[in-house]
Amino acid sequence: MRKISIFGATGSIGQSTIDLIARAPDAYDVVALSGGRNIAQLAADAIALRADVAVTAFEDQLPALRQALAGSAVQAAAGPDALIEAAARPADWVMSAIVGVAGLAPGLKALEQGATLALANKESLVCAGQLLMQTARQHGGCLLPVDSEHSAVFQGLVGEDISAVERIVITASGGAFRDWPIADLPGASLAQASSHPNWDMGQRITIDSASMFNKALEVIETREYFDVAPEQIEVLVHPESLVHALVGFKDGALMAHLGAPDMRHAIGYALHWPERRDLPVARLDLAAIGQLTFRAPDMQRYPALQQAQQVMQRRGLMGAVFNGAKERALDHFIAGRIRFTDMAEITARVLDQIETQSGLIDSAMTLDNVTQIDHMARRAADAAAAHSIG
Ligand code: NDP
Repeated sequence: MRKISIFGATGSIGQSTIDLIARAPDAYDVVALSGGRNIAQLAADAIALRADVAVTAFEDQLPALRQALAGSAVQAAAGPDALIEAAARPADWVMSAIVGVAGLAPGLKALEQGATLALANKESLVCAGQLLMQTARQHGGCLLPVDSEHSAVFQGLVGEDISAVERIVITASGGAFRDWPIADLPGASLAQASSHPNWDMGQRITIDSASMFNKALEVIETREYFDVAPEQIEVLVHPESLVHALVGFKDGALMAHLGAPDMRHAIGYALHWPERRDLPVARLDLAAIGQLTFRAPDMQRYPALQQAQQVMQRRGLMGAVFNGAKERALDHFIAGRIRFTDMAEITARVLDQIETQSGLIDSAMTLDNVTQIDHMARRAADAAAAHSIG
């Protein structure tokens, strides 16, 4: 039986992972499940999958978790240290699907144990890509992409030499506002930004899709994961979300990966890798679909894409600055304190400010330094948000 753990089990990716695991319960021995505030879901899944331990990220949720697990054999634990302890428990395969930089420390800990880490938590790679890759190499672990675009590129590279790659093209649906007049974007509401045309995802990534912060993170993720130059990475708006990515080779060949917009494909590929197994996802009928459309992204509409270039050129800890500022700007937008377009203005200001003011960008990529610069970026984003409100 394969020992597995799922971090962020109560979220959109976590639940899709559990959907796949639950179809073959005899194949998996579940070590740890983690969640946040959705205690009822966490406890129900932990009991049904007979997990050794269920962990909530928030200490104030421990009494509720204990109560929900009462009478079962599942242990209850809470808080960031408990997440790390759970990640240190031996497991063959670990899903990293916590949202935000909070996913970094448990993911690193799992890699230190030599686990295969299925990485949905793109923020980890954006903040500390080199550290994650190096940790995987050092401890004999393995990092598998779960983001649909990166899974698609990974699949397109099977049997290929990365030196034969000329470019990597990741597609973007364009999000909720792809056809809005740009002048209307400042007035976009939280409800409007929280509705994705094609994918059913958590609220934060859905809003990040509307602003293309999600695609900006994915461009950086591509650079970190596949170690290609920033100029080799392209973004293509593809409203149907059926082509997930394309790999262009030196001989002019362009290999595309197509599939239904269902994250269980990328999760299942990482779960069964290097094999391919039957997955419960819809099969595409291209004759019925008829046509696929593509267009270049409008950089004025999506300033986050330009900022991704700045981050990749500067590298070092700039990814952690970008992500920390983005996470706080998003918090402020969700709380109704700033407008939709203020988010990109805040991240632009924080990037410029910390890039010029702080030598920390060039310090060693350790978990402590990433955490420190993440906090600095969040404080700077709060100050910039206060300015936007004023
Ligand atoms: P959700 O918001 O649906 O789920 C997030 C998970 O993280 C939940 O289990 C949540 O717990 C938990 N969580 C929230 N805050 C914290 C915290 N501070 N510490 C620890 N755990 C926390 O997110 P998604 O599933 O949509 O996304 C998860 C990750 O996967 C993100 O990095 C996202 O970018 C990435 N991703 C998602 C895709 C998708 O289709 N959804 C596609 C590709 C990548 P609770 O809900 O119990 O509070």
